Amino acid sequence: MRIDILTLFPEMCEAVYSQSILGRAVSAGKLQVYSHNIRDYTLDKHNRVDDTPYGGGMGMLMQAQPIYDCWQTLCNDLGKKPHLIYMSPQGKVLTQARAKELASYENLALLCGHYEGIDERVLEEIVDEEISIGDYVLTGGELPALVLVDCVARMVEGVLPNEEAYSQESHYSGLLEHPQYTKPFLWNGKEVPEVLISGHHANIEIWKRQQSLKRTFERRPELLEEASLTEKDLNYLQKLGFCGGKMA
Ligand code: SAM
Repeated sequence: MRIDILTLFPEMCEAVYSQSILGRAVSAGKLQVYSHNIRDYTLDKHNRVDDTPYGGGMGMLMQAQPIYDCWQTLCNDLGKKPHLIYMSPQGKVLTQARAKELASYENLALLCGHYEGIDERVLEEIVDEEISIGDYVLTGGELPALVLVDCVARMVEGVLPNEEAYSQESHYSGLLEHPQYTKPFLWNGKEVPEVLISGHHANIEIWKRQQSLKRTFERRPELLEEASLTEKDLNYLQKLGFCGGKMA
């Protein structure tokens, strides 16, 4: 998969995808991520990429021309038009389910806004989708774009060791993950739950599923309404006091 980020702050993006798991995936050729500096495309002699909003109001807006030219150059270089996502607090909030769908795209491009945002006309012209990372406002689209890259990339084949590495985690199946423990067995007077060192795999699986259901019920009960639940799950949840949900 290849992801292209259109930004005014490419160094900020590169610092993230050159490190850790993403950095290793990029080095191993499992993932390609590139940043393009929108400022390189301005025709303004002072290198400006923003101006004041028509109709008045606070702050500056990113102008259409540099973004449009940056996008056109990318499309020409790739020989195709990637799915372009504008990172925006006005977009649909990113979910694990949408990230999984995006992980199947061969190419993605992410447009990062800054200042008060972007001239609407260029958004209408080139953007396929707007995605928000939550109902709050940040100063720029770089952190949201990097959140999306990280979340999508770890589901791209070859980035993590196998599918199990992400499919058992919170949100993937619609539930929160069970609590986890590592060595030592006794820490600060607290022992690891006995079942986890029993070696009884069936009981361990039952414990993990029940803990996952319990945690979701206690912390995010609304997720249970959409989760895929078995009769056993529902029986267990009913004992905890849950009355909704539907069977898979
Ligand atoms: N004036 C805009 C509004 O009220 O919708 C907010 C602009 S914000 C200060 C600047 C840029 O940060 C946006 O263009 C967008 O790219 C990015 N941004 C801010 N919050 C975001 C969020 N929650 N999700 C995704 N992108 C966000």
